[in-house]
Amino acid sequence: MDAVLEADGLGKRYGNRWALRDCTFSLPEGQVAALVGPNGAGKSTLLHLAVGLLRPDDGSVRVLGQQPYDNVAVLPDLGFVAQDTPLYRDFTAAELVTMGGKLNRARWDASVARNRLAQLGIAPHQRVGTLSGGQRAQVALALALSKRPRLLLLDEPVASLDPLARHEFLQALMGSVAETGTTVLLSSHLLSDLERVCDHLVLLETAKVRLTGSVDDLLGTHRQLIGARHDGSAIPGVAAVIRESHTDRQSTLLVRVDGWVDETRWTSTEVGLEDLILGYLGDHRRQGSHAAWGVTA
Ligand code: ADP
Repeated sequence: MDAVLEADGLGKRYGNRWALRDCTFSLPEGQVAALVGPNGAGKSTLLHLAVGLLRPDDGSVRVLGQQPYDNVAVLPDLGFVAQDTPLYRDFTAAELVTMGGKLNRARWDASVARNRLAQLGIAPHQRVGTLSGGQRAQVALALALSKRPRLLLLDEPVASLDPLARHEFLQALMGSVAETGTTVLLSSHLLSDLERVCDHLVLLETAKVRLTGSVDDLLGTHRQLIGARHDGSAIPGVAAVIRESHTDRQSTLLVRVDGWVDETRWTSTEVGLEDLILGYLGDHRRQGSHAAWGVTA
């Protein structure tokens, strides 16, 4: 599979502080990737670099083989829904569809947006400012999909939505991705939502890539091990201990495996994406994580 989005040693600095540093990953075509990390980790910065709104201070980012900064040639292939879905609130949905067509002549398909708005029961002549947050997010998604982008970047599109609206938004996104094969990079705090919809992960922490890869590969190479208290020595079959907690008698480890683990010594269970992410970000975050990340248990 070809990479639609590739970052290689990508960095962006504000003053003497790096908002993103040494960022290397690639996103294969047709994948839906989750971009996750705590507040301030660099997610928006990465999306703005990918969409060409920011110029890298180090390394490179490529969209379909081209660098996006100051490059209008790449714009027809890119869709971007920024945080809080900024739309012209005095416009009606129908006017936005017409305007989108004028601004994006290359591949614009107004019927995509019109059909979606009809399915959602959003009246074309209703002003956007009078719609609910969930409806506005849906309008922004419909407009982005009408552009028929090859890469769609979404910055926290569901953060302000209630669980039902979130569910509907992600369903809509998944439906159209399945139809069109669009590659998606979606930043979100809502880890439990992402597990259902994403097949690739980019995890940022304090400006760096902490973990990236296909979700199947990542889940296939990590285990939770529970056994008698461990003395810290190397464990056959374990490449790295990511997180550990101990009681007097028992140890619980999140590990990356590279071979067979002795199951007479350890009870080995699979981990979910949410636990994997929280494990990588460490116990101290986990304590407060449910509020900070909006995790729904
Ligand atoms: P996230 O989207 O993960 O919350 P951001 O990419 O918005 O993180 O921010 C990453 C870091 O860069 C943060 O420390 C933030 O304060 C800083 N930053 C972002 N934009 C600017 C800016 N325009 N000027 C100065 N610092 C910025």
